[in-house]
Amino acid sequence: MKYVGKDGTPVFYLSDEDFNQKLNEYLKDIPKEQWPRYMQERPLYIYRTTGIGYYPNGMATSEGEIYIRYRARGDPELLAHEYGHVLGLGHTDNFTTMNPVGHKRFGDPHNLIPKTKANFPEIWRKHIHPHEAYRHTLIGGLGLMTAWAWFA
Ligand SMILES: [Zn+2]
Repeated sequence: MKYVGKDGTPVFYLSDEDFNQKLNEYLKDIPKEQWPRYMQERPLYIYRTTGIGYYPNGMATSEGEIYIRYRARGDPELLAHEYGHVLGLGHTDNFTTMNPVGHKRFGDPHNLIPKTKANFPEIWRKHIHPHEAYRHTLIGGLGLMTAWAWFA
């Protein structure tokens, strides 16, 4: 499934299998020292053996293409994060949209979420807006949003 943003940025939604294959293909051409920290062996090993840790749900290539796991399509911060890369932004340790870790994205100082929504209105309408509840389930493993929803 492919969408094209108003600025020409293509977004591909892939099954887990296709996404993993694309990710591995892409990483193959990049020296390992340049991989994101959370993709390097130790964290990946911990993730694979315990289920704890991070595994990317999206990626942006240097050619300006965005790939998203289909099951993560309802996550607005994820698409905004990958679009941030296309716009030339790198990662940050701040708890904002450009944090490499999905559940550490709270603030949006570059207004990436409204920019993404404006550039990809069809994606927003089809996958993100009606799936607000689904999004809470997706990151609910952390407990934070879930607990928040219960008590709010
Ligand atoms: Zn990133």
